[in-house]
Amino acid sequence: MSDSAPRDFIRDIIHDDLESGKHTRIVTRFPPEPNGYLHMGHAMSICLNFGVAAETGGRTYLRYDDTNPGKEDQEYVDAIERDVRWLGFDWETRLTHASDYFAALYDAATRLIEIGAAYVDSLSADEIREYRGTLTEPGRDSPYRERSVEENLELFRGMREGEFEDGQHVLRAKIDMASPNMNLRDPTLYRIRHLAHQQTGNDWCIYPMYDFAHTLSDAFEGITHSLCTLEFEDHRPLYNWLLDKLEPPHRPRQIEFSRLNVAYTITSKRKLKALIDDGVVSGWDDPRMPTIAGMRRRGYPPAALRDFVTRAGVTKKDKLVELGMLENSVREVLGATAPRRMAVLRPLKLVLTNYPEDRTEMMSAMNHPNDPSMGERDVPFGRELWIEQDDFMEDAPRKFFRLKPGGEVRLRSAYIIRCDEVVKDEDGSVVELRCSYDETTKSGSANSDRKVKGTIHWVSAAHAVAAEVRLYDRLFREANPNTHEDLASVLNPASLETVDARLEPSLAGETAAVQFERLGYFVSDQDSTAERPVFNRIVTLRDSWAKLEKQALQAATGG
Ligand code: ATP
Ligand code: MG
Repeated sequence: MSDSAPRDFIRDIIHDDLESGKHTRIVTRFPPEPNGYLHMGHAMSICLNFGVAAETGGRTYLRYDDTNPGKEDQEYVDAIERDVRWLGFDWETRLTHASDYFAALYDAATRLIEIGAAYVDSLSADEIREYRGTLTEPGRDSPYRERSVEENLELFRGMREGEFEDGQHVLRAKIDMASPNMNLRDPTLYRIRHLAHQQTGNDWCIYPMYDFAHTLSDAFEGITHSLCTLEFEDHRPLYNWLLDKLEPPHRPRQIEFSRLNVAYTITSKRKLKALIDDGVVSGWDDPRMPTIAGMRRRGYPPAALRDFVTRAGVTKKDKLVELGMLENSVREVLGATAPRRMAVLRPLKLVLTNYPEDRTEMMSAMNHPNDPSMGERDVPFGRELWIEQDDFMEDAPRKFFRLKPGGEVRLRSAYIIRCDEVVKDEDGSVVELRCSYDETTKSGSANSDRKVKGTIHWVSAAHAVAAEVRLYDRLFREANPNTHEDLASVLNPASLETVDARLEPSLAGETAAVQFERLGYFVSDQDSTAERPVFNRIVTLRDSWAKLEKQALQAATGG
């Protein structure tokens, strides 16, 4: 990967550990639960975990945290692998599941019982909650807490053998019911669930809890640095307690960092799923979704996403990162690589009255203004053209340098034209512009040095390809929708606008991201058919929100 290596507090720790010889090779893991699609926040975790290992010659596991049978799905498993690969990372042979370790986890739990550090509790779920106490009051010991090792072993074996119903018993760590840290009040390690598991089928009817499975999976895989988000800080004492009791050969270290929160988006699989279930978006890969699948379909290049999370940085402080920062990363990557094309999103007919009816010319247009190596292409030109409705104004202010009655403008890569007549329908709407072209002003020709202030894009009506173009905007109108439980109330009703556009013919069948000149970056959508291409707007050329926000600010301050 060419992205230059960033530095942050986690990388500092890792470099120290390599320098001091504590570790000779860094091993990390990315541990998603396959209960939804990966989102921007996961992208950050992926880039961090795979990144720090790759930068130091280490290795990274992709490990499914699949300890919740029933909530997890093969569709999600497949999507996760596709998304991690697309982001540019490779786990090679290190694809694992927490469920791969069910037998070893069972043995570890048995060992905890043997050393008197775990017991089978037979309180009901409600009672356990009641005994747990509160943040201000200590919990109480379960009456089953002092069962003998033999009785515990026998009951745990019975749990595993399917001798009990769901909820009849649980296995708990024996730590401290009075601990100020609720996670240490004898946390549950195993529960009974008579439910088939997508990996292990009906082999098990007891399943380990996340903290137990996660800590030990880290140890089994020889993870050196177990990087997780801040909400696990309070779980670290349990993580370390388990390692102290079980003394595995490899001792991983948990380090927490703050979640990536991006303005105007949500990063919670549960809430994202609700948007789909409520029909707000078309699916996990709707191009407005902050999922990796959505961003891929939208046309964001993976390099832009990597660049963005690197810029957002790894810290311990909670922060809300501007969405504009991601869009700028996207513009930067596409600005250099996307070829230029012409397309008209809101077509207005323009007729060149002095241009021969049956004539077609090929206009040579550069594919990239700053990169001649990207070559040129021929764009057909004729008597009838489409231009953008916005590029004409009847009562134009003096500084309007596009087309106005009697005014002149250059058609990109073609001629200078003058607007002679405006044709309107009964309602007074402009339906056609009748113009004349100046034959001596063809782009690139010897006498094309006549200058006009404005240049506009166009598409030849006789050659245009009709296409559906989807214009996306942010999904929420609140900067921090995460703080709203009722997401419906903060949706941006204009997050998707569909227009019937006209494209230059070279865009038929184009699959790479392109710039529609003056409009933004676009890419063909999977809904395209041979008859009707569909394009997604990836991002506009400029951050129009930043401009609006600045204008609002200036208006408010009288500036
Ligand atoms: P969600 O709240 O969306 O369900 P999660 O944390 O439950 O997210 P997991 O599949 O358990 O989802 O997450 C896999 C990894 O990604 C974890 O290590 C988690 O800490 C990390 N992760 C999840 N969300 C973010 C985020 N917003 N920023 C950084 N890392 C994240
Ligand atoms: Mg989780």
